[in-house]
Amino acid sequence: MFNQDTITRFQSTETPFYYYNLDVLRQTLQACHDASSKYGFHVHYALKANFNPKVLEMVKSFGFGADCVSGGEVKAAMDFNFGHDKVVFAGVGKADKEINLALDNDIFCFNVESVQELEIINELAQAKSKIANVAIRINPNVDANTHAHITTGLDENKFGVNMWQLDDVVAALKACAHIKFTGIHFHIGSQITDMEVYKVLCGRINEIQDWFEQRGFPVTVLNAGGGLGVDYYNPDTNTITDFETYFKIFADNLNVKPGQEVHFELGRALVAQSASLISRVLYVKNGHKKNFLVLDAGMTELMRPMLYQAYHEIENLTRQGEVNDLKYDIVGPICESTDCFRKDVDFPTSLRGDLIAIRTAGAYGEVMASGYNLRDRVQSVYSV
Ligand SMILES: *Cc1c(COP(=O)(O)O)cnc(C)c1O
Repeated sequence: MFNQDTITRFQSTETPFYYYNLDVLRQTLQACHDASSKYGFHVHYALKANFNPKVLEMVKSFGFGADCVSGGEVKAAMDFNFGHDKVVFAGVGKADKEINLALDNDIFCFNVESVQELEIINELAQAKSKIANVAIRINPNVDANTHAHITTGLDENKFGVNMWQLDDVVAALKACAHIKFTGIHFHIGSQITDMEVYKVLCGRINEIQDWFEQRGFPVTVLNAGGGLGVDYYNPDTNTITDFETYFKIFADNLNVKPGQEVHFELGRALVAQSASLISRVLYVKNGHKKNFLVLDAGMTELMRPMLYQAYHEIENLTRQGEVNDLKYDIVGPICESTDCFRKDVDFPTSLRGDLIAIRTAGAYGEVMASGYNLRDRVQSVYSV
């Protein structure tokens, strides 16, 4: 929802740009903070969802840690003072220089995704006479009931160590003198809205932590990952994800033992609703079979629809309140047929110059912008 002052401001701003509503961001972070601190849970923000500097500053101000998936993100987490002891580092392909950077910064924990990676971290830590804290990322074979392109916790996915490899993990842990086993980590997918999935995950975590303890490896960190979804269909009426219900599921179903810490890694749910991509209609092409609105934004600014067949609400801000009397395919300017935000959208009759908002674009939006077609880098504008 944009008030008239905001739309007037958009009219005098060059498009396309990401518009950040900092009030929505603040309220979302507050809600997550309140719901998680009730149980003493630790939340790490997944930087890959959005590393816009203003977003990072605000996330950090709520005391959240950082969840990183590259050396660049570890560096950003350090630069933005998230605190080295609040940085976790996951990723199926950590390069040696990235591991070294994380060792140099004494991060809280590596989330290790294979036996071979464990051995390499051990070697690199030994060379620096350090001990690396690790949690084992386990693929629990739990179906996240989300889009196949953003499911990560099934046997056929590349992430984590499979359950049948855990004996090898234990053998490797015994052999690695420069590794300290701290616990177990899970991340089964993204845009998860079916809360039953998290109950199943809790059951699996309980079994696996017992398995490690029976083998002489006490688990101090239970890291449940992220993946909590948002409502892409109702950004104005369901703006803030139900963090209360989410954390309560873990509080009720996880078997948390004395001295254990419970960690989460949330990305999307914290930032998605705080931004929209604002664009203008460049051309209207009415045909026999299709009507097209060609925007000045495309997959170079927001790639989710093209990459994951993701749905975004799209609004014509210039014609708010007018009847939807036509159907359009809303497309970008890029020389690719997949450069389409949505097909057959019910829309008011639109004209060149109309302002278009693509909603719920704060997560995996600006961060995936590319320079393909030698396009200008998309700008950011903030609410005042
Ligand atoms: C991407 C990612 C997250 C965050 O996922 P969301 O769906 O944005 O909450 C958390 N943990 C890991 C390891 C990730 O790769």
